[in-house]
Amino acid sequence: MKTKPEEIVSILREEIEGYDTRVRRDETGTVLEVGDGIATVYGLDKAVYGELVELDTGVKGMVMNLARDSVGVVLLGSDAGVREGTVVRRTGRPADVPVGDGLVGRVVDVLGQPIDGLGPINATETRPIEHEASGVVSREPVNVPLQTGILAIDAMVPIGRGQRELIIGDRQTGKTAIAVDAILNQKGQDVICIYVAIGQKASTVARIQDTLKKHGAMDYSIIVSSTASESAPLQYIAPYSGAAMGEYFMSKGKDVLIVYDDLSKHAVAYRTLSLLLKRSPGREAYPGDVFYLHSRLLERACRLTKEYGGGSMTALPIIETQAGDVSAYIPTNVISITDGQIYLENDLFFSGQRPAVNVGLSVSRVGGSAQTRAIKKTAGTLRIDLARFRELEVFTQFASDLDPATQQALDHGRRLLELLKQPLYHPMPVSRQAMILYVATNGLVDDVPLDKVRSFVLDFAQEMENEHADVVDKIESTGNLSGPAIETIRSILEDAKKRVSATWQA
Ligand code: ATP
Ligand code: MG
Repeated sequence: MKTKPEEIVSILREEIEGYDTRVRRDETGTVLEVGDGIATVYGLDKAVYGELVELDTGVKGMVMNLARDSVGVVLLGSDAGVREGTVVRRTGRPADVPVGDGLVGRVVDVLGQPIDGLGPINATETRPIEHEASGVVSREPVNVPLQTGILAIDAMVPIGRGQRELIIGDRQTGKTAIAVDAILNQKGQDVICIYVAIGQKASTVARIQDTLKKHGAMDYSIIVSSTASESAPLQYIAPYSGAAMGEYFMSKGKDVLIVYDDLSKHAVAYRTLSLLLKRSPGREAYPGDVFYLHSRLLERACRLTKEYGGGSMTALPIIETQAGDVSAYIPTNVISITDGQIYLENDLFFSGQRPAVNVGLSVSRVGGSAQTRAIKKTAGTLRIDLARFRELEVFTQFASDLDPATQQALDHGRRLLELLKQPLYHPMPVSRQAMILYVATNGLVDDVPLDKVRSFVLDFAQEMENEHADVVDKIESTGNLSGPAIETIRSILEDAKKRVSATWQA
């Protein structure tokens, strides 16, 4: 049977119309060049910014640079085995991480893969690591406290749920310690905590995991780890992965506390990556968009309205300064993005004032409206008293005889500072903070010898908790210091003073 020419034309036309374009050349590309965790790939014409790609060696990558006839891909894993000509495939989806309850209690890498040897994680959902922050409509003002359990912070730089509070200070001034204490204090508070380690030593991460486990805090925590030995791209995406995991819980109406330790190293990782991608350097050799890098990360922390589930994400980014220089590029950037900073000082740390919070330079711009009533009331004069004390101390350094009023202000200030000292991993509940603040700010312990004041007040608080649990529980549950509670505090304190004052003279 002969086919007519018209039929051939129609068959051809059908074929051309139905031509399946699924396997196309622009869906795959080949590596031209690879090094330092960055691959230049030819042929991925349709790739979009932020897209996940897969290499033949099994390693994944993220498209970060789009040039005229090549794309820059950052490798999210080892570049071993990747060579010129290795085939790269598009996946058509943005880089994402597994999210969900299965991650709680685990230590994962930046792609959400377990690294704690406790078996696979069963997560049913994934979320893109880069995600637009919640809009204005879905946000609610910060007005619920997030207690860190650290007296100096809860009293003077209160943090609210959904706030972004920067922890800033030189190396080894107790920055991580504050974040860890804040995580420990969330026990029983129904807050999911995420600790993101960026460029930290593996031993530090292991120690933090150990601490959290020992205090039962791993039950509600996730550790996202990118250690110093990992490539710049992995360190770069670590905080975004952590934020994606947090956003999942926030969208489910939960409260989340996320710690980015630290963003200085994050900025350095991004600088490395940008220079390798041949982007032009700017101030301090950082690329021009380094501000945007941190602002889009920290904007993801917020408190949602009831209609959007009512969840929140509180962010505690950490920045390391060099010799206390807060006016360097990255510190000023992050200070201006966050809602306040906790400034830790070397001199205070070495003089034994730990946590080394500099009261004058630490602020919380939104947390005040979220502060617990009992603490707000009792801590009212603390800041001013300490500021006055600092001035007087400098002023009277060389004076020998002081008038009684000055001497009294100095004595009071010294005792306040003494009471703000707090050892590691001993977060305080609200009731204890309120009691200590009450006796301290009202000058009720100014007659106790300076070297005894801390142990005396702690013993007193312990006694209150043991003997007058009803009063203490009431302070804890109502978040308020009532008249009768104050009477009990005063009378117990007087009794305790009478009992032990004999030993002070000795
Ligand atoms: P790095 O710059 O190395 O990250 P860091 O600023 O995070 O350091 P930490 O690691 O938290 O500092 O603390 C440094 C040291 O100070 C640790 O050995 C820790 O045990 C000690 N330290 C921190 N806070 C306190 C505290 N409140 N009381 C006693 N020791 C403390
Ligand atoms: Mg640290």
